[in-house]
Amino acid sequence: MSRLVAFAAIQGGYNIISKVEGRLKRALETYDADTKVGFPNTAYFLPVIYSLLGLKVETLEDMQKPLGFARKLLPPHVKGHNHLPYLGPLLDAGMAGLIGFELDEALRYLEDPDFYLPSEDVDEDAGKIWLGAADDTIMRKRGVEFVDGSAPGFAAIVGAAPTPEIAKEIVEEYQKRSLYIFCAANQNGTTVIDQLREMDVQVGWGTRIVPFGPDISSAIFALGFANRAAMAFGGVTPGDHKKILMYNKDRIFAFVNALGDVNAEWAAAAAGCVNWGFPTIADTDIPEILPTGICTYEHVVANVPHSEMVQKSVEVRGLKTTVAEIDIPLAFGPAYEGERVRGADLYSQAGGGKTNCTEFLRMAEMNEIEDGKVTVVGPDIADINEGDTFPLGIFMQVAGREFQEDFEPILERQTHHLINYIQGVMHIGQRDIAWVRISKAAVEKGFTLKDIGVVLHAKFHQDFNKILDKVQVTLYTNQEDVEKLTTEARAAYKRRDERVENMTDEDVETFYSCTLCQSFAPTHVCTVSPERTGLCGAYNWMDCKASFEINPTGPNQPIEKGEVLDPVLGQFAGVNEFIKKASRGAIESYNFYSMVVDPMTTCGCCECIAAMLPSCNGVMTVNREYAGETPCGMKFTTLAGVMGGGASSPGFVGHSKFNITQKKFILGDGGLLRMVWMPKSLKDEIKERLEKRGAELGHPDLIDKIADETVGITEEEILPYLQEKGHPALSMDPLIG
Ligand code: SF4
Ligand code: ZN
Repeated sequence: MSRLVAFAAIQGGYNIISKVEGRLKRALETYDADTKVGFPNTAYFLPVIYSLLGLKVETLEDMQKPLGFARKLLPPHVKGHNHLPYLGPLLDAGMAGLIGFELDEALRYLEDPDFYLPSEDVDEDAGKIWLGAADDTIMRKRGVEFVDGSAPGFAAIVGAAPTPEIAKEIVEEYQKRSLYIFCAANQNGTTVIDQLREMDVQVGWGTRIVPFGPDISSAIFALGFANRAAMAFGGVTPGDHKKILMYNKDRIFAFVNALGDVNAEWAAAAAGCVNWGFPTIADTDIPEILPTGICTYEHVVANVPHSEMVQKSVEVRGLKTTVAEIDIPLAFGPAYEGERVRGADLYSQAGGGKTNCTEFLRMAEMNEIEDGKVTVVGPDIADINEGDTFPLGIFMQVAGREFQEDFEPILERQTHHLINYIQGVMHIGQRDIAWVRISKAAVEKGFTLKDIGVVLHAKFHQDFNKILDKVQVTLYTNQEDVEKLTTEARAAYKRRDERVENMTDEDVETFYSCTLCQSFAPTHVCTVSPERTGLCGAYNWMDCKASFEINPTGPNQPIEKGEVLDPVLGQFAGVNEFIKKASRGAIESYNFYSMVVDPMTTCGCCECIAAMLPSCNGVMTVNREYAGETPCGMKFTTLAGVMGGGASSPGFVGHSKFNITQKKFILGDGGLLRMVWMPKSLKDEIKERLEKRGAELGHPDLIDKIADETVGITEEEILPYLQEKGHPALSMDPLIG
């Protein structure tokens, strides 16, 4: 914290209190001590003082007490050499200043009763514009909007913009966000309200632009309004200052925009507002108060260009964009998730082994992206003929104060069910092996690829507002763009996968469940451990852990491992208990590290499916991208069709590509040394890791001993090759005991 701003604010507090003391003294010389004071038509007395201190100020004499209290709040003057390590004294000085402001305004009501208009609206004809304190009728009518969400909060603007045009621009941006704009104070005699009127902008409660008053003290009406709302709608008891301030911090999205030079009194007001959790964003070079603590984020941010004022304010206060409606021409919701797009209904598709289809979500800087921007680069549905295939890259960029790179895979994986929520559109797979099928019915109703972005933007805001502020989606349909995105995505997938590289299942007491896929495979429960990533490859243990943190009641629940029932097959009492519940009794137990004996359940998302090859005393695995025949007699699609419904099928198991080289991979069946066949492309893809893992197991050339389709696609064809190479599986215990 800057000592300078502390000094200014504390000085400001002193100035305000001394001024009010003088004014009250003179008033007491002019009027009787029991002269009534207060704001008109309110049951809340002077509302800031009443709500925070529990004091009812009804007469001039009653003012002495809160004023004395404010005087005592003032901290000792800060000398140049003093350190001020805590915000405390600064906040107290600010609070004192604000109490002073409220008393000052009450004295103005007493001494100049016609200064403020008694009505809800500005009287243009009479040239009167200042409305002063809102009465209880207005407060009830408007305050409820702060509770029901029709107004998220208010922007308190003090001072004046450099030009009327800028004032108009800023205010209209706030109006668009449904915020109230509370105006007070002037800059060399000019106010934002003057500027707006010059630009023919209507002001008054009706347009949510409220001209409270021309002085900085009038800013107190905004806080009085907020505190009355807390008492009236939040049920907070007067005098419970902690609750009042908390209520405002948590419930009212308010902040101050200081336009123009910030003097000591303004600095005191800004410091005072920090008590409410309302930060100040200024256009001038005032010292900032950046440490976060009381306000949601920074306390005072200086030097913000006018063009960024609105965005910065909304961001600093943590105002969340909510997207109520999903504006697409098709029905949308979980009801459509399990719906298929069959061959006869198909209009066009991307991925599925025919073209590249990649989805990739990456964190962005706040100023790097524009919330809600959805772009289709390349041909859209209108340019694609029925029956055509097209490459697709779905690039999602997300920014947020709370966003972490660790959350990327979690949001990225949401595309699966969210795209499936669109009626007539189907999504399978993940990462760079996604598959999107679009039905004729969807196209007839006007579906375009842009709708995918619209859905993702809206749902990310709805479901993950806590961690993100901005979502931008770009859909690429030109081959070269999709390739470029895919390369970038693969590097990220690799980094994500390797985050669990050095962890073992023994290291942790907790595994995580994943039941995201139950809408397609109702009995399917993935258990994800450090050494067994989800079979879709998109979720590893770290991801599930982060997902649980973001959404504690979501699809990724912690599972206490409990007693180790079989360390080799990988059976744990806690896991059994969990899957029994989560599969609604359909599955009682499964083995984590075996495909032969009670393997884990498999859903249609798996990257690979492993199968036994009894004549070779080994196993094979096939990845989704490989469309050819395999030695087990079934292609990937056939295997997925048979095994992918959520059952545990002894002899087969779905797994991720990464899992192949994880240490627990089919450990109970002899581990990776059992692997006798894989498609060549898969071997190439995981070559580096396969060589490393082979060497660890004493077979640095394991990769060459594993047959592929160039050797053969039947057990008979590959067996001589395995013998010739001396494949370790041939000398292992029989696969089936
Ligand atoms: Fe979760 Fe498993 Fe589905 Fe992946 S395959 S999303 S880990 S349930
Ligand atoms: Zn699945």
